[in-house]
This record gives sequence, structure tokens and C-alpha cells, in this order.
Amino acid sequence: MIKRIHALFACLFASSIASITLAAAPRAAHVFIISFDQAAPSNIAAAEMPLFKSMVARGAHTWEAYTIVPSLTLPSHTSMLTGVGIQKHQITWNEWDATKPLSVPTIFQLAKAQGLGTAMVASKAKFKTFEQAGGLDTFVIPSDYLCKGIAAAAAEILKKETPALFFIHFGDPDFTGHQFGVNSPEKMKALAECDAALKVIREAIDAAGIADSSVIILTADHGGHDRSQAELDDMVSRGHAPQIGTHGDARSDDVIIPWVVWGKGVKSGFTVTAPVVQYDTAATALWLLGVPLPENFWGRPVISAFE
Ligand SMILES: [Zn+2]
Ligand SMILES: [Zn+2]
Repeated sequence: MIKRIHALFACLFASSIASITLAAAPRAAHVFIISFDQAAPSNIAAAEMPLFKSMVARGAHTWEAYTIVPSLTLPSHTSMLTGVGIQKHQITWNEWDATKPLSVPTIFQLAKAQGLGTAMVASKAKFKTFEQAGGLDTFVIPSDYLCKGIAAAAAEILKKETPALFFIHFGDPDFTGHQFGVNSPEKMKALAECDAALKVIREAIDAAGIADSSVIILTADHGGHDRSQAELDDMVSRGHAPQIGTHGDARSDDVIIPWVVWGKGVKSGFTVTAPVVQYDTAATALWLLGVPLPENFWGRPVISAFE
């Protein structure tokens, strides 16, 4: 028994372990995860995104977080929103398939089990995978699924409810990156529009009166690269429309993602040097909300980013 008490104290002093194994008091009442689809760190640097960059300056960030492989939208977001790698969640496909449900719980289900409110606004039908899993009080794919419509839908939800866990997905950079190239002017414009949409969301959070108790995570599912001319010629010869931009590989420009955290209790102007992997977003969100992490979680909260 005494040994056990000693062990418990050892755990409590190693605060990271304590917060993983014991239900802790929440550090934030609201966590927003905002995913910019196909937004590589180099894209963020090049695009006109004043609000995103001000949140980097006033928050904690790393420009070298990593997604999983294959670096595709549904597998990557599944890691982001379940806290495990693809070897565990086994979502190897990239479209919604009602016959192949998730076999691991989402962070929405885990938050819901603790009585917390949850919401998702996304711009692609494949996110129905998470709706199907349950745990989402509100799930919206707006008919205007570009970032302006996404932000408007999120702001509308915040007028009626203030979920503890809110996931928002901007598809625009991915749509333009595929069509025009991953570093194209069209994609830069899309990213600038996403920054304006981010402002709408920030204002909605302010208007809901929850800004002081919120943490916002800004990240991406993957980056991307342009196909070679030979690859494009091959696509056309096989009767496909040429898509300049692509992703899915383990190459650096596909797998390196931004990871930014801003808000309550976040260190200001801090550069995260600990490794951050896609599934750490899930762990950080639950840790902030005081939801105990399941033992089989792969993700770990990015504790160094917080005071
Ligand atoms: Zn994507
Ligand atoms: Zn894509």
C-alpha cells in the first residue's frame, strides 16, 4: 500500500503522466481544431494570412509536425480525430464508405462520454465517417462548402451552442492545389480566403463570450507536391483530367504539416521543439478538456506549449 502511495506521488509530480492517467480538471472549456486541407508550412509562409500568423506569434507552434502515411485526407483526419496511427485505425481509403465504419472511438465520442458538447463543420462528404461513428451533437456539411460557407455555418452554430470540442475543416487549399498546383496563385488566394474565414470564426467565438476559456489548434491533414509533366501526360493518356497537385506519399512536402496552438494557457511566442505527430492533436484536445486519454492512445498532449 505504501509503495502504491509512493508510486501515486511519483505520478503526480510527473505532471504529464498524472494528466494522462487521472481525470484532470479541464485547462480549457472549449477546444477548436481547425484543419486547413493541404496547407503545408511553406504555403502558410507564402500566403497572405495575417490572422494565422498573428496567432503563431502570440501562441505556440512548430512548422515541422508530421502527418501519417499515406498522407491522404481521410486517413490523416482519422488519426487527428482518434489519436491513433493508421496501423491501428485501418482507414486506408479516402472516401466515405457506410459499410466500413470506424473501429476506434473518436475524440467526439470520448468527450461526449464525459458529458461534453461536440460539433463538426466540414467541406467534404468523407467526413460523414465521423458523423457515422457518433458522438457529434452537431454535424454540418454546408451547401456552400468553401471556407466562407464553412465559417458562416460555424458562426451560426456558436450563436446557439458553445460546444466543448469543435472541429472545423477548410477544403479550399486542397481543391485549388489539386487543380492548379500546390504552390499556385489560386491556392495562395484560397489560403488568404481561409484566413478571412478564420477571422469570422474568431469573431463568433468572441461574440459567444467564450474567447477567454478557449484554445484553438490550427493544423493540416497533409501538404502536397506537383506531378511531373510525364505523370500528367500519363494521366491524360489514360483518359483522366490532369490534376497538377497531389499528395499521399512519405516525401517531406507531403507529410510535414503546421501545428499551432493559441488561447487560454498557451505560451506566447513559443516554438515547440518536441516531436508532434498527427495523432497528438487528439491527445492535446482531450487533455485540455480534462477527458482521460484511453490507455491505447498513440497521441500525447503537446504539454510544452502550455504554461
Ligand atoms: Zn486533404
Ligand atoms: Zn487532396
